[in-house]
Amino acid sequence: MLQGRTAVITGGSRGIGRAIAEEYARQGCNLALIYHGNEQAAVQVVAAAQDCGVRAQGYQCDVSDWKSVEATCGTILSDFDTVDILVNNAGIVHDNLLMRMREQDIDEVLAVNLKGAMAMTRHLTPTLLKSPDGRVINISSVVGLMGNPGQANYAAAKAGLIGFTKSIAREFAPRSVTCNVIAPGFIDTDMTSALPDSAAEKLTSLVPLKRVGTPEDIAGVAAFLACDQASYITGQVIQVDGGMRM
Ligand code: NDP
Repeated sequence: MLQGRTAVITGGSRGIGRAIAEEYARQGCNLALIYHGNEQAAVQVVAAAQDCGVRAQGYQCDVSDWKSVEATCGTILSDFDTVDILVNNAGIVHDNLLMRMREQDIDEVLAVNLKGAMAMTRHLTPTLLKSPDGRVINISSVVGLMGNPGQANYAAAKAGLIGFTKSIAREFAPRSVTCNVIAPGFIDTDMTSALPDSAAEKLTSLVPLKRVGTPEDIAGVAAFLACDQASYITGQVIQVDGGMRM
């Protein structure tokens, strides 16, 4: 249970971030939910969390914008006083073969998926280090471990997130703050719904468990990594991919 703790979740308005927010709220965790453009969805998640009896508030913020992250983290801290758990989940894709990729596709994907997580962690470090049981949970991807044609920018960002996490795991360990990565496989969200049926079927055929993952599959692991029983796990990459990469 996460009773009485406070979590910041980026990209908490939809998909995996939303499922993590819902699970954390069910377990009694207060929530600061960061969204980018989808206020309506964020309002719904916040209202559902409040129905669970926890404090919850939405914050519009572009995690790729350093100043916006700094200002938002300041506002969160004045609203909640402390933050115990940070889930860096916000992510985007701009897929293309490298030979056709534009500079903007590389910059934006690195800025949201990698620099965004670094900026959020940077600005919340002082409060996380003060928490008696601080946690950083970064959502990478199995693609960051195995590569994927058409996703060189995204795979690089997600692989970078792993090196980042292992470094801060070592920096934060003396204060008992754990830092881990979840590497999801193929999960049914808005991000993957744009895939043509043929590509989705091909991807599913690569999954030994023979099904697409759900956001709840990831949320369960994110809740475990945040709980007391996981306090001796740090610097690890937990794959939640139905066995896609073994
Ligand atoms: P969705 O596209 O469903 O949701 C993305 C979330 O990120 C939204 O809440 C969105 O906010 C937020 N977001 C996007 N850009 C920004 C930004 N610049 N600043 C702040 N928030 C932003 O994605 P998923 O739920 O599928 O993915 C969540 C994470 O899991 C991502 O990091 C993704 O890379 C990773 N992942 C997903 C997999 C999958 O198969 N779905 C597989 C492996 C990893 P808003 O709603 O306001 O737009």
